Amino acid sequence: MKGDMYIARSSDKEILEKAEYGGAVTSLLKFALESGRVDAVLAIKARDGNRYDGVPVLITEPEEVIETAGALHCASPNISRFLKEYLDGASDLKVAVTVKPCDAKAIIELTKRIQINLDNLLLIGLNCTGTLSPTKAKTMIKTEFEADPADVVAEDIEDNKLTIRLKDGTEKEKDLTELEERGYGRRENCRRCETNIPIMADIACGKWGTTDKNKTFIEVCSEKGSDFIKEAIEAGKIKVEQPSSDAIETVRKKDEAAIELARQWQEKDFASLTEMSGDERFNYWSTQFSRCIKCYGCRDACPICYCKDCVLEADRGFVPPGEVPPDTMFPMVRITHVMDSCVNCGQCQDVCPMELPLSRLIFMLNRELAGIFKYEPGMDVSELPPLRTVTDQELSLSSVEVAL
Ligand code: SF4
Ligand code: SF4
Ligand code: SF4
Repeated sequence: MKGDMYIARSSDKEILEKAEYGGAVTSLLKFALESGRVDAVLAIKARDGNRYDGVPVLITEPEEVIETAGALHCASPNISRFLKEYLDGASDLKVAVTVKPCDAKAIIELTKRIQINLDNLLLIGLNCTGTLSPTKAKTMIKTEFEADPADVVAEDIEDNKLTIRLKDGTEKEKDLTELEERGYGRRENCRRCETNIPIMADIACGKWGTTDKNKTFIEVCSEKGSDFIKEAIEAGKIKVEQPSSDAIETVRKKDEAAIELARQWQEKDFASLTEMSGDERFNYWSTQFSRCIKCYGCRDACPICYCKDCVLEADRGFVPPGEVPPDTMFPMVRITHVMDSCVNCGQCQDVCPMELPLSRLIFMLNRELAGIFKYEPGMDVSELPPLRTVTDQELSLSSVEVAL
């Protein structure tokens, strides 16, 4: 049932050899296909074995699932957008999909907007404390770890340390905060992320609470997830044991520590903006937006921007066409359309060719709105976003000071 927890390990010898943490996730994905529960598996694979080029793959043959085994920290493909754009949320294709917390949250928000049919998905959540930009990671490995990026076979983030494992078996470890203060480490949005365990998925899988690197801690988060895990156990695909109370306590403490670190980063990242006067903030953001080349990358990457007929297109007459930088309505409209539901996935900032700190601004505004409306994006599929449900009377009563 929902709330059950297991320490799990694959029963498949080949998966055990290739996968990490006992291969439970890979075995579960394979079982989802074999059992006919889903038509396809959507997961991330290193393209041509290059771990800095993780791409989403849609797999329909169970024996190919093993190609997605192993964690790729230098990959953060836009899974929710992929589902929406390429798998047509209204279709009947049933898909098991691996999701980090931000992917799961974006899927929940798109479900509320009737862009994804959650009934067709089996969300296999992966606990996450951060992903790295592939380009920056390669530079960091060369300069900070003094290693060849091509020699890295695994990365790990644990207890505020970043560890890389090289193909000769040696490991190198660095303090994560020190790396991040020097501009390396996790993507900026990941530093601020408070959701490490994707409890909005059907199951959440992670390494916290396990005593060695050969097992996975699984938390059951829905009745769908519960049925699935029970079937996988009965079919002998994974071997499970009950976690001890110490293991459960370890998960809780590690989650709390990661949340605390994220809040410290939020304070640091937002302080420079919130401490400005209104005029200074306006000038800061005007200068930032004056660099915008109106490529639409941020809009096209954002999982919350879902309109098929976007008011920012030239033919809608909202933003004058042919102007670079675009009229201030361009960033303003995008920000106001997404700020109540921003899931801090960082996709907008990742794709911006002008390197505008977009997710920093939008997530900061989202935190302000979350405080006012008590709405946490992506956590509960039954709760609608506040700017969709707010009444005219509430609008006139509430004064939302937008930090622009
Ligand atoms: S935003 Fe959070 S869930 Fe998403 S990749 Fe970063 S740390 Fe992981
Ligand atoms: S605004 Fe940026 S960070 Fe927020 S949901 Fe959209 S793409 Fe993700
Ligand atoms: S991605 Fe950057 S440059 Fe492109 S439209 Fe968005 S803010 Fe402007």
